[in-house]
Amino acid sequence: MAINRKLRMGLVGGGPGAFIGEVHRKASRLDGEIELVAGAFDIDPKKSQQMGKQLYLDPKRVYNTYQDMLKAESALPEGDRIDFVAVTTPNNWHFPIARDALKAGFHVMCEKPMTLTSKEAKELQTLVEKKGLVFGLMHNYTGYPMVKLARDMVKKNDVGKIRKVVVQYPQGWLATALEKTGQMQASWRTDPKQSGAGGCVGDIGTHAANLAEYITGLKITDICAELTTFVPGRALDDDCNCLLKLEGGAKGVLHASQIAHGEENNLAIWVHGEKASLEWHQEHPNYLYVRRPSKPEEVWKRGNDYVAGYSAAAARNSRIPSGHPEAFLEAFANNYTNFAETVKSAIEGKKPDPLATDFPGVNEGVRGMLFIETVVASSKSKQKWTPVKK
Ligand code: NAD
Repeated sequence: MAINRKLRMGLVGGGPGAFIGEVHRKASRLDGEIELVAGAFDIDPKKSQQMGKQLYLDPKRVYNTYQDMLKAESALPEGDRIDFVAVTTPNNWHFPIARDALKAGFHVMCEKPMTLTSKEAKELQTLVEKKGLVFGLMHNYTGYPMVKLARDMVKKNDVGKIRKVVVQYPQGWLATALEKTGQMQASWRTDPKQSGAGGCVGDIGTHAANLAEYITGLKITDICAELTTFVPGRALDDDCNCLLKLEGGAKGVLHASQIAHGEENNLAIWVHGEKASLEWHQEHPNYLYVRRPSKPEEVWKRGNDYVAGYSAAAARNSRIPSGHPEAFLEAFANNYTNFAETVKSAIEGKKPDPLATDFPGVNEGVRGMLFIETVVASSKSKQKWTPVKK
């Protein structure tokens, strides 16, 4: 039966002063498919209550812990309870919250990196399969229309056999010991117990690796990496340099850094094939540059008819006419809206539109954890080149 209503979301994390929980709230409501009805917003129950009030939520559905939320929401009639749980806490909480939500029968949208270890990631993968529930992973950069266009150019063989991928994600905000000031986002990111085995590599290196695999459709098979901690006293890496081998003989270079003064979120990718080269920048996301041998450079611009004519995915994931910029929140919302349509299809017992299933999920989460573990192992090793385990 068709469900003619918004999907109901229960949010974990996103308390006062939190970063990405607020982005999830904004992006999830952009297309009117999702409403926030419940939450356990903070590790501190008082702050969770404070956030619930600020959001005008029914106080009965503002919970002190995620466990309370899962228990109480499971006990509500099907017509009232949440449909899915969004996980926006620091990394160490992703696994227990996602696992318990799936076990309770809720679909999940989870922040990256998916877990602390690949073992946990594979446990989630098995659970998702067993339960037949929908799992989204917020690698939001795959939500950009021009990233989807690039992916489709590779798929249609307009780029030819891929020879080389260069992907970068430099930031500068951790160039000093910001964590020593108690800054909220820096504190947990530099603590291995909350962040995991990787610092910069887990926080933003995973986005770069995911983007490279998404656009090229090729898996990274081997990594030669060097992680460095430049800021004295910091427990995790703040700089990451990798050489990559990808399926089909392609080579790659991936670098991520959080000590690059003045860099904001300078994620960018270059894909060089036998027929053409592609270039895309997250800070200028409405343009895709295409270069072919002995031809003038092409600049493909989001929202134009020639983009829609070429890529149904780029067209579907774009909202406003060309020249009015779309960016971070819209790309984030694309993952949410595709996830919501897929969840609705699951509830209705229908097969989803393949274009709606175009968002990262639990398999990409496993890939992310294998990437982090391989980079850490390679960096510590003498032989350097390290295969990515299956
Ligand atoms: P943050 O420190 O700003 O916020 C974390 C929030 O989670 C806080 O409100 C904290 O109180 C709450 N919290 C912690 N444990 C909790 C628990 N057990 N139950 C309920 N709430 C709990 O962190 P952030 O920068 O927003 O990052 C959160 C997550 O989002 C991380 O996994 C990070 O890697 C990811 N992230 C992703 C992107 C992206 O672009 N996709 C960007 C930033 C952060």
